[in-house]
Amino acid sequence: MALGSAFETHEVFNQAPLYDGVNLYTSDAALMAAVKAEDADWADDRLTAFGAELGRAELFDEGERANRFLPELKVHDSRGYRQDMVEFHPSYHRFMSISKREHIHCGAFDGLATDARPKAPGVGVARAARHYMMSQVEAGHICPITMTHAAIPAIAQEPSLAATWLPKILSPSYDPALKPMAEKSGATIGMGMTEKQGGTDVRANTSVARPSGARGPGEPYLVTGHKWFMSAPMCDAFLVLAQAEGGLSVFLMPRFRADGSLNGLRFQRLKNKLGNKSNASSEVEFHDAEAYLIGEEGRGIRNIMTMAHYTRLDCALGSAGLMRQAFSRAIHHAVHRQVFQKRLVDQPMMTGVLADLALEVDAATHLALRLAGAFERHDNDAEQAFARLMTPVAKYWITKRGPSLGYEAMECLGGNGYLEDGINARIYRELPVNSIWEGTGSVMCLDVFRVMTREPDAVAATLVVLEAAAGRDRHYDALLDSLKDRIASHSLGERDGRWLTESLALLAAAAILMDRAPAPVAEGYLANRLAPRATPASFGVLAAGTDARAILEASVPTFLS
Ligand SMILES: Cc1cc2nc3c(=O)[nH]c(=O)nc-3n(C[C@H](O)[C@H](O)[C@H](O)COP(=O)(O)OP(=O)(O)OC[C@H]3O[C@@H](n4cnc5c(N)ncnc54)[C@H](O)[C@@H]3O)c2cc1C
Repeated sequence: MALGSAFETHEVFNQAPLYDGVNLYTSDAALMAAVKAEDADWADDRLTAFGAELGRAELFDEGERANRFLPELKVHDSRGYRQDMVEFHPSYHRFMSISKREHIHCGAFDGLATDARPKAPGVGVARAARHYMMSQVEAGHICPITMTHAAIPAIAQEPSLAATWLPKILSPSYDPALKPMAEKSGATIGMGMTEKQGGTDVRANTSVARPSGARGPGEPYLVTGHKWFMSAPMCDAFLVLAQAEGGLSVFLMPRFRADGSLNGLRFQRLKNKLGNKSNASSEVEFHDAEAYLIGEEGRGIRNIMTMAHYTRLDCALGSAGLMRQAFSRAIHHAVHRQVFQKRLVDQPMMTGVLADLALEVDAATHLALRLAGAFERHDNDAEQAFARLMTPVAKYWITKRGPSLGYEAMECLGGNGYLEDGINARIYRELPVNSIWEGTGSVMCLDVFRVMTREPDAVAATLVVLEAAAGRDRHYDALLDSLKDRIASHSLGERDGRWLTESLALLAAAAILMDRAPAPVAEGYLANRLAPRATPASFGVLAAGTDARAILEASVPTFLS
């Protein structure tokens, strides 16, 4: 008898057992296949142990607490001195500690000296797998973890800053104290680009920076202005955009000045957000805040894009993880819940809905991990070019598919899915943010369009990957031919950005699945995503001949056994 099942008025039965003891690695066939295909399965033991640690009800409860007890801004201390600090619930700190212990904040750069290159094949993919699993349990704290990770190659560009900051950034120790970096055992990094008058259009930034002494890379400047969004304000420093005499530039702005005093960051308030509750996102003013120039003045956008490239990969990974967890909960419920004398999972329409969700989640998992693999193949020009084009494609497509998948998965649990007691409601509120921040959906499409028109190497490298999968499916071939025709005829305009991006995403996902996924999943994806449709379909409207049961058996065997 389950705990608490004996009530005076009724017996509780036909509810799914607690989601507990589900290994987030070994229960995820697509993740394991992707890790293996990227030659990172040497990390299987560590990933299995981490998957077991994360898949416990106790940790999911901790995630719920981190999102229920919200961060609070404490502008002044009890004596009236400014402190500009944010207090978090202990659950949030616990997740930060785990993610730092697991090197999710630096893992693609494990073994780093100063050149910001991965040192062993597969470290970036193994780190991506840990990020994806952790996102399933608590996604809010992933924001500073991701930004810290992405800041590494940007800071590495400036040797004087790299020498002092990178050892603290690479440290696995989480030290939440508000103290100068030199006194801390580990550091985290945030990012401030968005101002009130423009987030996408950062050239409109009005924050200004003037040198406090000598001008140039690595030198201290004083920044005055504001940021309308600056997440994770308890980070030890931020990469900030401001206008210098030479144009828009990027600076490293620490919380403390070199003389040990609190720097001129004045937090105004915390955002009241739809989701992403455990993470604090601030509005901040800079009052002559000390900050160090990274790279040359006027190269701000180019230099901060080094960071944004990595954060966009993480948005794709994070959304894929959230989609996986939403789907896992749906399949877990459907396997255990009986309706009309049959398990839900065996009701034909539900089998179809779940199979369709499985196709989407497996495609997202494979696409995100394949991209993580391309990121770390630094010495392979074709892979770097592929990553250049596919990063905005994957960020756009996976984060766009997330919310509708999260909604459908929630509905699979019926009324229970809609309740805040469970995780599906939290995931549903979390999913849209990955599409909005780090460049919105249309901004990703503009980036894709820009690469298409200006970086022929990236287009060529991607077409080589897509053409390698041609000749196996007529819908795939038709879409690929149409894409190539339109590229060759230069008939694509900005308004075609979404068509272009979605075509690339579908083709890339299908190509990867044909190579790496079980046949029912790959064939199901081709039949249900690449065949043209007159109207958009909701999940579960499957093409004739789709074997939904076979898809589920291939995708989530451990849940069905
Ligand atoms: C929870 C949260 C946390 C955040 N944290 C941070 C942070 O830590 N640091 C930071 O710098 N920012 C942060 N942001 C800000 C975020 O990156 C921006 O909100 C985002 O980049 C969009 O900028 P915007 O809000 O100014 O919208 P706008 O740029 O005004 O865009 C509005 C709409 O117009 C569309 N659009 C823009 N240009 C075009 C075009 N040329 N063609 C077609 N459509 C276009 C966009 O796609 C969007 O749909 C955060 C945002 C959120 C929600």
